Amino acid sequence: MRRCYLPVALWALAGLGQAQTPELSVMCSQGLTGDGCRNAQTSVRVVLEVLRPALRSWRFIVVPDTRWADTCKAFRLKPCVPAFSNLKIRATYLNSRLAVLIDGTFDEEMAHYTRLTGENRLEWVLAHEFGHILCGTADQNVAEDAGLRLRGSGGPAGCPVDADRKRTMTTARR
Ligand SMILES: [Zn+2]
Repeated sequence: MRRCYLPVALWALAGLGQAQTPELSVMCSQGLTGDGCRNAQTSVRVVLEVLRPALRSWRFIVVPDTRWADTCKAFRLKPCVPAFSNLKIRATYLNSRLAVLIDGTFDEEMAHYTRLTGENRLEWVLAHEFGHILCGTADQNVAEDAGLRLRGSGGPAGCPVDADRKRTMTTARR
């Protein structure tokens, strides 16, 4: 996989001031329709606009909570974490509960992963996934570090030179 480190200026040009770079699409999977889908799409787009990952041709698929367990099963994902990326099909799957930006209620299960809530939580999750994707690594620490840098600078993630390339993603064997 080619890893790209587009300068921020190039990224800005490519985006042409649009709310979203066209190559990044946000879709809803079966069972998430109407306002529920539109709100989730908006949430993800808001965060993509903040993070601006140097990423081409990638899909974000929001899956309703009721179908999340089946989605994990389909990808043989254990444990069934609330978000994961698949390099082969160039897609990131998100549990719809992550795509709620203003969360009035305490989500105990999500709190197991982070104390952040709402938009900050979604930003953390997506930045972490971009760490995996942009660095081409399954290493959680490398992904988290790259995600932190991405959140801090709003620029390219910057991967360590000897990130372990041989390890596989959770679901994608390369
Ligand atoms: Zn991870």
